[in-house]
Amino acid sequence: MSDEVIGLLQQLIRNACVNDGTPASGQEIRSVETLADYLGVGPQVVEPAPGRASAVWRVPGTDPKAPTLMLMGHTDVVPVDLEGWSRDPFGGDLSDGFVWGRGAVDMLNLTAAMACVFKPYLRGDRPPLPGDLVYLAVADEEAAGGLGAGHLVDERWDLVACDYLLTEIAFPALQGADGPVYPVATGEKGPYWTRLEVRGTPRHGSLPYGADNAAVTLAKAIADVAQAPTPVVITPEWERLCGELGLPPEFSDPEGVDAAIETLDDPMVAAYAHAVTHLTVSPNVIEAGVKANIVADRAEAQIDIRALPGQDRGTVDAFLRKAMGETADRVEIHPVADHPANSSPIDTPLWEAVVSSLEDHTGSRHAVPVTMTATTDARFFRRRGVVAYGVGLYDDRMPFGEFLAAFHGNDERVSVESVRLTTSFLAGVVDHWARVCR
Ligand SMILES: [Zn+2]
Repeated sequence: MSDEVIGLLQQLIRNACVNDGTPASGQEIRSVETLADYLGVGPQVVEPAPGRASAVWRVPGTDPKAPTLMLMGHTDVVPVDLEGWSRDPFGGDLSDGFVWGRGAVDMLNLTAAMACVFKPYLRGDRPPLPGDLVYLAVADEEAAGGLGAGHLVDERWDLVACDYLLTEIAFPALQGADGPVYPVATGEKGPYWTRLEVRGTPRHGSLPYGADNAAVTLAKAIADVAQAPTPVVITPEWERLCGELGLPPEFSDPEGVDAAIETLDDPMVAAYAHAVTHLTVSPNVIEAGVKANIVADRAEAQIDIRALPGQDRGTVDAFLRKAMGETADRVEIHPVADHPANSSPIDTPLWEAVVSSLEDHTGSRHAVPVTMTATTDARFFRRRGVVAYGVGLYDDRMPFGEFLAAFHGNDERVSVESVRLTTSFLAGVVDHWARVCR
């Protein structure tokens, strides 16, 4: 099984299903074919746009009343900046014990591991579970899922219906007060993407004195928004993680958390700690003006805003207006996407199966629920009441901070041992699931 999973991961990377957000990109049909070849059984294919294929395989359970478990992996990946890579991002190279390539940790490692775990059930080499077991290879996760999970949940629930779901993302372990702590992604922040727009008055660029320059007004608004302190929420998940990690109490104190985060050495760990305790605001696209000799009469910015539980559009707009101060009168705020944060409970049989497999593999039952800062396809299923987790296992060659940096970053890679561990761990979860599901 272990060599199979590595070969499959390499092939999924080489398929280069790069999703740049345009409907013609992705072409996940290539990875559907790879997976169908590997599994040896044809899937139900759903292809809402040419080449944008998702594939479902379902193994019926023995008890129609038992809950259905789905394993879901996306097959698309985000684009790369070639200059930042020291290897071919779509070569799937195996070197120094790592598989290199775009998607190695997001999330082709899991997509491949789940296929390997699923195959013996599909082929009848393992007895069926009480409930159905489903494997879904899904397109378009990296562009909000409209041609993938969003479409399937809305239009083809008959194919993807489930009660429990394992999907992304698998975090590496953290060093806790009494040994390693294993994060399980049980929830995610909600995107509240926002467009800011400013209108000015055009005139000749040689006469700037007293001009109404939209670029200048927007630049001030953006700088104010990016520097202002954002609202804090201390979630139960964060409080529990702080306890497990033995962090000082300031980390879970709304008044002390900002100063506490400054004491963290690893910049990516600090960014994570900040993101799971704050509304985050990242102005990522700014456009203004038309020509160097015309005072800019229009400027706009796209801001990636992410909310915690309890924060909504009202929180976002109030924050923006306060941060911009007097400039706010000049700025139109346009909501682009409003999605609340979501999460799954942990008093479930799937959590029990996860912890039991963790104990088999590590001797520890120290699983902790954590919040993802990014959005995943899990949200479509949670909206339908499905319990969804993201979990895997890594060796110690992928520390937490490095993992976060590789995510959509340069030189994305995963150790061979981590992929093997994750495969064995997930197989164990399904094994335990067969005993505890009810
Ligand atoms: Zn992903």
